[in-house]
Amino acid sequence: MTTGRPTRRRPRRRAALVVLALGAVAALLAVAGVAWQFLRPPGPRPLFQLPVACGETWQLGTYPGHDDYDVDLFPKRGEAWGRPVLASYPGTVTVAGINGSLGGRTPDNPDGPRGRGGGYWVKIDHGGRWETQYLHLLEPPLVREGQRVAQGEQIGRVGSTGNSGAPHLHYEQRRGWEKVETWFDGEPSGITHDDTEYTVTRKSNNCAAARP
Ligand SMILES: [Zn+2]
Repeated sequence: MTTGRPTRRRPRRRAALVVLALGAVAALLAVAGVAWQFLRPPGPRPLFQLPVACGETWQLGTYPGHDDYDVDLFPKRGEAWGRPVLASYPGTVTVAGINGSLGGRTPDNPDGPRGRGGGYWVKIDHGGRWETQYLHLLEPPLVREGQRVAQGEQIGRVGSTGNSGAPHLHYEQRRGWEKVETWFDGEPSGITHDDTEYTVTRKSNNCAAARP
């Protein structure tokens, strides 16, 4: 007696096909969602502030071979070692760790062995595909990955870890896939290429400490 079998099997096959189809649709939606994170157009430029304490004046500079748009910050007055490094804008910490190797340059041994790369560093996602990066920090970052930070919140201290000649903060702003000219307090820095040595002086207006 085999007459009953086809009528029992067909609904099962149909159910299996429906499950497969739903799974395929879910997988496609997941892939589209991930792709959208990377392909969506960037949002408007956030009102970034200098990553240093409110009211302080710092020199922003670059030099041949530094890479276009990258900025090195040195305080105009006082020691660079240990100065607070602040979030330029509210966001979520996506990296807080070591880039390359630390080396051995400390306040007690400023000419110690040079490390590689960025040393202790932090990367913050500000939404709208905008990011900032802070390199060569003195010590492990004061924030952890996944943490929300406010504008003006301290994320570390200025140091000379990684490939750094002297204590300073190396800083970048990124939009989507690319580095862009750094802007602070609504004004472009003017640092757009590394063909020549170039410096500019700016005063920090990172004073608001707006919550994320
Ligand atoms: Zn640099």
